[in-house]
Amino acid sequence: MKVFLPGTLEDLWERWEKIPNARIYAGGTDFMVKLREGAIQAPALICLERIPALTKIREEENTLFIGAGVSHAGILTHPLVQTWCPVLVEALRVLGSPLIRNMGTLGGNIATASPAGDSLPALYVLDAEVVLADARKTRVLPISDFILSPGKTSLKEREIIRGVRIPRPMPYTMSRYEKVGKRKAMAVAVASLAACLRFDTNGVVKIARLAWGSVGPTIVTASRVEKALVGFPLSRKHLEEIAPMVEEAVSPIDDIRASAVYRKKIAINLLCRLAGDSNFNGRFTP
Ligand SMILES: Cc1cc2nc3c(=O)[nH]c(=O)nc-3n(C[C@H](O)[C@H](O)[C@H](O)COP(=O)(O)OP(=O)(O)OC[C@H]3O[C@@H](n4cnc5c(N)ncnc54)[C@H](O)[C@@H]3O)c2cc1C
Repeated sequence: MKVFLPGTLEDLWERWEKIPNARIYAGGTDFMVKLREGAIQAPALICLERIPALTKIREEENTLFIGAGVSHAGILTHPLVQTWCPVLVEALRVLGSPLIRNMGTLGGNIATASPAGDSLPALYVLDAEVVLADARKTRVLPISDFILSPGKTSLKEREIIRGVRIPRPMPYTMSRYEKVGKRKAMAVAVASLAACLRFDTNGVVKIARLAWGSVGPTIVTASRVEKALVGFPLSRKHLEEIAPMVEEAVSPIDDIRASAVYRKKIAINLLCRLAGDSNFNGRFTP
């Protein structure tokens, strides 16, 4: 099978036009597994890793742009990402192993659209937008509109993810990502929670954004729980009071990693652990 390595986006569009059924990949950490299993068949492959336009991280007015082709390791060590979105850094730090983080890319994690994808809950609470491009145009979608169902996205034929845009962080925001897996490393999430909370100067929650991974067919958000946090300081007692709302919001399944009942319990515990957690308090952005 032929593998093409375009050096620019123009080369990519030209090559894809000539071989319309060619399949694209970036780090190959998901794609190559499926190819070897025979789950993917293609007349040719196009690797995106040599396209510099996909590997940039830059500040653009009031947003941070992260190219789809930047590796997880490249993102989590980047000073701009560390300042703008520590929750994404926390999420990528627990994705796979050092090898997977060096090879795997953000674009690949988003396009895979797994409910266990570690970058996704963080991107949801950051209100990230996905920048998509084909040979003719660029379009932008909120991450929650881009992800449709397990493994399904809004990507059109011969369209790629160019990157994500993340709005400037608001003052007095705290964020946290926690993942529970079967092991501490190299484990797919049994359940995970990303949280981004904005406080007023009295320590009362003004805006709450929460997103759970692995407890539904896609990332689960719960506006009822978010609203119930607003107007109160963050306390274990209050979180325990609103915890039953989490049970209603999530719809996990039984699988080889965990039962649905266990996943529900973890989803609630992850919420309750937001209060009084030193890590969470340490991510305060004044
Ligand atoms: C051992 C192992 C452990 C893992 N652990 C985790 C984990 O803990 N957490 C987790 O979230 N994931 C995990 N993964 C899954 C995987 O590594 C990640 O999803 C990774 O981010 C995929 O990125 P990639 O660049 O390798 O994607 P690829 O394998 O290159 O591609 C995956 C899919 O995305 C598409 N794609 C890639 N780039 C683009 C683009 N720019 N535009 C459009 N489509 C694109 C490809 O066509 C393909 O369909 C693991 C994988 C392995 C093998």
